[in-house]
Amino acid sequence: MKILLATHNKNKIIEIKNALQELDIEILSLDDYPDMPDVIEDGDTLEHNSLKKAREIYEYSGIITLADDTGLEVEYLNGEPGVYSARWAGENCSYEDNNRKMLRELDGVGLDKRNAVFRCVITLFGENLYKTTEGVLNGKIIEDFKGQKGFGYDPVFLPKGFDITLAEMSLDDKNKISHRGLAVKAMVQVIKGMK
Ligand code: IMP
Repeated sequence: MKILLATHNKNKIIEIKNALQELDIEILSLDDYPDMPDVIEDGDTLEHNSLKKAREIYEYSGIITLADDTGLEVEYLNGEPGVYSARWAGENCSYEDNNRKMLRELDGVGLDKRNAVFRCVITLFGENLYKTTEGVLNGKIIEDFKGQKGFGYDPVFLPKGFDITLAEMSLDDKNKISHRGLAVKAMVQVIKGMK
């Protein structure tokens, strides 16, 4: 069995490959398909975008495709940025731009009101195949950047029950608790059931 990961994001590829290690399957990514057209992520839910990515890339490649879509939902911001997490600070913004916007939006807000949740939806799509799993990670947005590892909002996210941010954790430790790690783990069980 071969699975194509519907991403170019190096951090995601490492995280997902690491989590799929126990399965004896060949893992490809979009780096193996440089000419693949970009999928426009214009859905208004994580489920929609995750399915859209998996379906379009499967239709192009003919290889069973695994796509994830993640959003960070901040309680004080009524669930924002959610499905718009990637380009929250504007078109072509960097992770740092998004994090600076987050700290600005929560400026002066007490720690008890800075609850946030990462939600990840994973879709596996192929011929007569459509499976989906979800993983969530609860925590808080802290008041400054901490840590150099990971990507995205990791430096400002303190997972519940921990005193270090996701950006201060090793990849293995992040994978054990993260939204994506949990969603992939659930997908591993689904794939085991298919083999
Ligand atoms: P995507 O559409 O799944 O790539 O995720 C949207 C945005 O959420 C990304 O651009 C990142 O800013 C953020 N994000 C996704 N996964 C993570 C993570 O594991 N840690 C921190 N930020 C993440």
